[in-house]
Amino acid sequence: MRADRLDAFIATHLPNIFYLTGFSGSSGIVLVAQNSAILFTDPRYTVQAKQEVTAAQVKIVRGSLLKAVGEQVEQRQGSRVGFEAAHLTVLQRAALGKSTGARIRWISWDGKVEGLRAIKDESELATMREAARIACASWEETLPLVKPGVCEIDLAAEIEFRMRRKGADGPAFDTIIASGERGAWPHARASRKLVKKNELVVFDLGAILRGYSSDLTRTVCVGRASSEKRRWYAAVLEAQQAARQALRPGVTAEQVDAAARGVLKQAGLEQRFIHSTGHGLGLEVHESPRLGRGEQSVLRAGTVVTLEPGVYIEGTGGIRIEDDALVTSTGAEFLTHANRELIEIG
Ligand code: ZN
Ligand code: ZN
Repeated sequence: MRADRLDAFIATHLPNIFYLTGFSGSSGIVLVAQNSAILFTDPRYTVQAKQEVTAAQVKIVRGSLLKAVGEQVEQRQGSRVGFEAAHLTVLQRAALGKSTGARIRWISWDGKVEGLRAIKDESELATMREAARIACASWEETLPLVKPGVCEIDLAAEIEFRMRRKGADGPAFDTIIASGERGAWPHARASRKLVKKNELVVFDLGAILRGYSSDLTRTVCVGRASSEKRRWYAAVLEAQQAARQALRPGVTAEQVDAAARGVLKQAGLEQRFIHSTGHGLGLEVHESPRLGRGEQSVLRAGTVVTLEPGVYIEGTGGIRIEDDALVTSTGAEFLTHANRELIEIG
């Protein structure tokens, strides 16, 4: 804030509010000034905010939070106040301007809290390791239920039940179970479809624990895999290993993506790899940095990213292998440890 000559900053993006104050409610704005911080929320959160928030003063507001924030900053006329333009609607932005008039200069100040969030401290990492362990164990325990005739939704329910029983607050996102040709949709939610023999089944799941997410994908084959499917699987696994080898402090996000992409290109599967290699992980399932083409951001120790190359073949299915990796001072280490080799069931 000092470098950008800001007198104050307002955070409106909920994961950023949680990061700054510990408040986990769904309605809030944090006003950070040089020597103070105030969380504005509504009466539903009076008790919760009192318990969760120690690093900021709490103001309970009846009515518009933006208006209340505007009235608070108005006391400092002519000041420069940063806000998260990427996380306000057009209407909210207009309301903000109206709440203070022209005396306040509202400065678009995006990505600053996200920049802090990208480097995890030891306590955050301990939570993320546990979230990763819960996801892996829940998947491993569900594997024996995978057989011809089982419904995708039932597998998703089994996984999510186990995650909660193991201490997760819940699934980090709707569990993806994509069997057979549905596997060619990278984001297919579990459906009523029954798993059939000789199908590939993609599982993409994550647990959320004290705000932090894990994200794990495994692909299994029901029955013996054809030589073609084995070749695809081996290429995806090798692509992930290449990305893992490339991951270390000082490389750009694009370089990690290129390592995985290069392997799939060698295997003639480049056109089948239709998304980026991974994404930052933490208080959001998808946060910066994105490991994709054209991404110049430099990775630093303490960042957690997913490595998730995949290939998708219309009419046949998909293969994706996804792990969560921490950038360490010398390289990288996986937080997820579930078996990565091809599993053939029955
Ligand atoms: Zn995933
Ligand atoms: Zn992911």
